[in-house]
Amino acid sequence: MHAPVTPIDIDLLIEARWIIPVEPAGQVLEHHAVAIRNGRILDLLPSDQARQRYRPQMLRTLGEHVLIPGLVNLHAHAAMNLLRGYADDLPLMRWLTERIWPAEQKHVSHDFVRDGTLLACAEMLRGGVTTFSDMYFFPDAAAEAALEAGIRAALGVVVLEFPSAWASDADQYLSKGLAVRDRFKHEPLLHFTLAPHAPYTVSDGTFERIRTLAEQLSLPIHMHVHETRDEIERSLSEHGVRPLERLHRLGLVGPELIAVHAIHLDDADIALLARQGASVAHCPTSNMKLASGASPMSALLAAGVNTGLGSDGVASNNRLDLFQEMRHAGLMAKLTSGDAAALPADRLLHMATLGGARALGIEHETGSIRPGKSADLCAISLDEAETRPCYSPLSHLVYAAGREHVTDVWVAGTARVAQGNLLHLHNNDLKARARLWQNQVAL
Ligand SMILES: [Zn+2]
Repeated sequence: MHAPVTPIDIDLLIEARWIIPVEPAGQVLEHHAVAIRNGRILDLLPSDQARQRYRPQMLRTLGEHVLIPGLVNLHAHAAMNLLRGYADDLPLMRWLTERIWPAEQKHVSHDFVRDGTLLACAEMLRGGVTTFSDMYFFPDAAAEAALEAGIRAALGVVVLEFPSAWASDADQYLSKGLAVRDRFKHEPLLHFTLAPHAPYTVSDGTFERIRTLAEQLSLPIHMHVHETRDEIERSLSEHGVRPLERLHRLGLVGPELIAVHAIHLDDADIALLARQGASVAHCPTSNMKLASGASPMSALLAAGVNTGLGSDGVASNNRLDLFQEMRHAGLMAKLTSGDAAALPADRLLHMATLGGARALGIEHETGSIRPGKSADLCAISLDEAETRPCYSPLSHLVYAAGREHVTDVWVAGTARVAQGNLLHLHNNDLKARARLWQNQVAL
């Protein structure tokens, strides 16, 4: 006879009807549980074994839910939540030059970014997003908002050649941005990227500095690339080569590159991204809304390029909703390739989680449910009229359910959403701040 084994004390045990860990791909576990201690995943095992092996301080039973890794929004301009619906139905360049840039010039400040980012964090957490990769002015204000919200963020050290309320020239964007990184780099939920805006707004000299900094500091490079045909034509006339070729010559196309949008790609561009191990942040909703085009996802995946999903800012979306991005990415790939098998559900969930984490270089920390990783988790109820019957929770996640079915969200083991409600951001306060900004912006 064996002596009874003493159960191990843990902080939290989450039991779920289904768990999709994302690694290994396509796996759907039934009646399993995740054991969490000190904010990290300690174990993933059948529920009946978990109850014997562990003594949790808290038990959450998700009887008719699917538990997945927290979603990773690989490209956002979170503070732009204060400009949601401000300018719609315009092509990218007119939308930027006639509406968005003038409004930003007038209103963007530390407080604007802090309040806008806080609103965005509230929206993302409620929608199951536990990590977002941001590119905006005043990254210090975005860092404060992310810490207050308790969400994981990869904040971009934004770089442009033209002045804003945040910085006057490329040197100052870099020095101020890197000072923000120095101030916050020990925060476990904050990560950083170098974020040159785009090939058409940054000079060769600045790109060379960025390449050196990326090497020295081991930072990803987060940049809009090949978003419009106009961008390619301008590069051909000004530099004699396509933007990606120019970036390659400057040494910027490597595993650290997150090429945002990457729509207008020829075979050589795709081969270059694949050969150099770069990642793509696919933003299907923004691309459709601005009529920028369709990124060749099937070809990128066939070439082995790592891909994640991004919302872009709400001014061109108008939601920070990764469920919507999964669905749109899938439908768009099927339509444009003429192949209904293109981008299946398990691939889309991979893009929305591990693919994004890998692009950011934080796949050891988040993106899948594996022992050792941070407990960044999202639960979705499938016990709804819209999700009954359920033959495949993976299919429902991508094609039937939505962010409105998210019930619980944990970031590093701390509950941020429970029963669909934000736990420590106060909705009324956020809405009051949004109203104040609306009055100013609408003037
Ligand atoms: Zn963008």
